[in-house]
Amino acid sequence: MPDSGSSGSQPRPETLLSRIGRPVAHPGPVNMPLHRASTIVFDTVEDLEAAKSARFDKGTLFYGRFGTPDVFAFEEAIAVLSGGYGTVAVPSGLAACVLPLVAFLKPGDHVLVTDSVYEPARTSLSAFIARSGVEVSYFDPRAGAAIAEAMRPNTRLVYLESPGSLTFEIQDLPAITSVARAHGALTMCDNTWASSLFLKPLALGVDLVVEAATKYVVGHSDAMIGTVTAAREDHHRLLRQAANWLGYRISPDDVYLAARGLRTLAVRLERHYRTGLALAEWLECQPQVRRVLHPALASHPDHALWLRDFSGASGLFAVELATTKAGAIAFVEALQLFSQGFSWGGFESLVLLTDPGHARTATRWEAEGSLVRLYAGLEDADDLKADLKSGLDRLDAFTRG
Ligand SMILES: *Cc1c(COP(=O)(O)O)cnc(C)c1O
Repeated sequence: MPDSGSSGSQPRPETLLSRIGRPVAHPGPVNMPLHRASTIVFDTVEDLEAAKSARFDKGTLFYGRFGTPDVFAFEEAIAVLSGGYGTVAVPSGLAACVLPLVAFLKPGDHVLVTDSVYEPARTSLSAFIARSGVEVSYFDPRAGAAIAEAMRPNTRLVYLESPGSLTFEIQDLPAITSVARAHGALTMCDNTWASSLFLKPLALGVDLVVEAATKYVVGHSDAMIGTVTAAREDHHRLLRQAANWLGYRISPDDVYLAARGLRTLAVRLERHYRTGLALAEWLECQPQVRRVLHPALASHPDHALWLRDFSGASGLFAVELATTKAGAIAFVEALQLFSQGFSWGGFESLVLLTDPGHARTATRWEAEGSLVRLYAGLEDADDLKADLKSGLDRLDAFTRG
């Protein structure tokens, strides 16, 4: 078994990150070796039968698709970091968003989803999950306890994401989870933005935490992995079962990169946090900027919730530029240090023109200007600021014609 790092009193996060998911046998390597396996071989019929009947239990070696010791070690590391019973690692963040839906919903059930949900997950809900006779509806991410009004007698699952993708609303997780619990519904929360280092949704009453480890855990834009962590053992079993229905399996190389990323998660996140906030504060004072959507800014409407529940912020935020789409294109294309591209969480800064309005159904996205998402990488903050300044200068030139 990997070292859970949880013996005695729980170490602080930075210490934990250098302990969890490592081999315990000494003498031995510091890092978990890779295991390439489809077939696992057994000596006796009894051993094989025992592994088969325990194949959905945490850490059971049965067949490659059910996981190998390197995968189990990574899963245990994420579970310890999140404060959960167990984690199931899957091939991508989106696969992690979909897994609880497959594991817990059946025809006739209702799933209530935040209107600010990651858009590809919204597509999976409407084009795939809804096809199997599951009712899907959306709620205002800022509803808090008023989510009670959106609950139906058949609501089985409430799907949360905080802050919301693109629009950065913070959800009142304790208020929402207590309503859901009283109603007998499960809650899942996409925690990709903060990662389990800066937000612990399970401690706020959430049952299942989803993360695109592709982003901050891997941290170098070179592998894709998702994780689903359950607070309870029975839920963890059902997730493992559903992962097998779907045939999910992850490669040892990707697991290795994700486990390696974990070791530096705290130092990287601290830097993304500081640089992102410095850029957000600077942008807020620029005349071309209508508003900055960053929960760590005092001007953010959910700042008090962020202060209450989070211990840090991501490098990902958005700015609404006081310009047309063409002006925003001029800004984005003038940037040299921010590349355009999807995803984030790596060492390199990114920028993306976005339009959250078209995906909304429960709420309206009101913006007079153009929304641009920024991701602060590990570059020097002043260099990044100078690059944004040149983008804003280009915007001025564009506006003057
Ligand atoms: C990127 C992302 C995902 C999907 O992760 P992939 O690994 O790209 O599939 C899910 N949720 C959120 C909030 C994300 O930002």
